[in-house]
Amino acid sequence: MLDAGAMFGNAPKALWSRWVETDELNRMHIACRCLLAKDLNGKNILFETGIGNFFEPKLKARFGINEDTHVLLESLQQQGLTHKDIDIVVLSHLHFDHAGGLLSSWQYGKEAELLFPNAKYLVSSIHWQRATNPHPRDRASFIPHLNRKLQQSGRLKLVSGSTHELLPEVTFEYSDGHTPGMMHSIVDNVVFCADLIPGKAWIHVPISMGYDRFPELLIDEKEAFLNRHYKANHQLFFTHDPDTSMAFIHYNNGRFSATDEISH
Ligand SMILES: [Zn+2]
Repeated sequence: MLDAGAMFGNAPKALWSRWVETDELNRMHIACRCLLAKDLNGKNILFETGIGNFFEPKLKARFGINEDTHVLLESLQQQGLTHKDIDIVVLSHLHFDHAGGLLSSWQYGKEAELLFPNAKYLVSSIHWQRATNPHPRDRASFIPHLNRKLQQSGRLKLVSGSTHELLPEVTFEYSDGHTPGMMHSIVDNVVFCADLIPGKAWIHVPISMGYDRFPELLIDEKEAFLNRHYKANHQLFFTHDPDTSMAFIHYNNGRFSATDEISH
């Protein structure tokens, strides 16, 4: 559960209350969804890891995290996999709600361990600079000991172009409005929106989150992103939408919206 006002930036409650349901504290349900490409040319690729279960109980309560387990590990198990079977983890950015699942579950008096021992971790090089030298405004969104462990693993691979030799099946685009160097993966006809468009309510171009570092830049980037992927007939993948995992883009009269949504 997250504060709905923060999720919709400067949009008034009269508007966003039509799009999402909130509790008595104005909080809304937020998913932290990952995308698994199983056996893609013999590799298991995981796009993002969700929030995981690394927070101590006090912080879990503060962020309204309801789950008591490492949901990603359970979801992988349902696919017949463990974290050891993942060959590549692609991280759009290293905010804790996208990368926390790289860490093992919280245990009293023990520092969490880095999971996915056989994986390479792909992060954009611009974003790695930001994550390791955060601005005071977004320092709390990063997990310093996670960054340290990624660096020490020797398996961190920094990405800067539209492709990477480890993953020729995927192309990359970048945006800077949510956080510098956020990486959007395109695999088949699916594009990973990350926090540029966290859910279908944010397809509407003027809507941004209070967490976005550069809202006007984000809105320009989002408009270009939607135009590009509308023309390419790509399907959007949403990390945070509580109900909708994917949708195509609809364009009518200067306004973008979601169509042919997939719910789960
Ligand atoms: Zn983020």
